[in-house]
Amino acid sequence: MEEQAFGPIRFIPGSNGGRYPNCHSVFIEGADVLIDPGADRNALKALRQEKRINQVWLTHWHEDHIMNLDLFEDVPLYTSEAAAGPLGDMEAFMDAYGAGEEIRDLWKPLMEKAFHFRPRQPAGYLKAGKGVEIGPLRVDIIDTPGHAVGHLSFYFPENDVLLSGDYDLSGFGPWYGDVGSDIEQTLASIKRLEEIEAEICLTPHETGVFVRPAKELWEKYAAVIDKREEKILELLSTPQTLETLVDSWVIYGKPREPLAFYQFGERGHITKHLDRLIAEGRVASDGKTFERV
Ligand SMILES: [Zn+2]
Repeated sequence: MEEQAFGPIRFIPGSNGGRYPNCHSVFIEGADVLIDPGADRNALKALRQEKRINQVWLTHWHEDHIMNLDLFEDVPLYTSEAAAGPLGDMEAFMDAYGAGEEIRDLWKPLMEKAFHFRPRQPAGYLKAGKGVEIGPLRVDIIDTPGHAVGHLSFYFPENDVLLSGDYDLSGFGPWYGDVGSDIEQTLASIKRLEEIEAEICLTPHETGVFVRPAKELWEKYAAVIDKREEKILELLSTPQTLETLVDSWVIYGKPREPLAFYQFGERGHITKHLDRLIAEGRVASDGKTFERV
């Protein structure tokens, strides 16, 4: 993938097409703000050489978005207040994902080696607001929780460019597997982003650059949630435990490696759906098994 510029907004591609665990970054010329430093490590090192970077911003605290944050330890960090806990402490990071002991043992060394996790304290917090001045530019900071607690998106009205954050318009669909994730909030955030009708939408994974993304594309992305729910309801025509549902790979489609890591992700999503279906009175549970009502 190639670097692209939309006025002062530079799209810096992540390795391997920005597929997880990689992520695309954005650099705002003039304001000299780097957003989500998960792009190719060498490209970010080169950017550091080329530019004085004033601030690093994060849409949220997930590992793929902070992969190369360690290269900018001396640059002030800004993100939502909700992201400060997990960014500041490995155990708090694991807690925010709801990781059990077996996952922590697998994940902690990976976080340090592959994601270069170093505890960081933000220099300040980004709050939702319209027309916030950054250098010569203005940005709308938009609360978009659901994917993660405190998730932010950024819209640059002068250039009609939206950074949607992890609402990435991918075929996989929305991700809402951690403790603070929420399906209803995810749907509301997708709607909020769709209604901006931005000329350019930059996302952190895969395609990355969408020119005038159609309403249908946002709707198709959101509809993945319904499709998952339909599959879960189909399975629940006979009683299922959480683990038999996890082993059905409704979310990821098939087992992926490292298995424990993806089972954990699958479980996180299935749990959110079960909670929602029980609250709607569509599924009942005896505490062990779940069944369609
Ligand atoms: Zn994320």
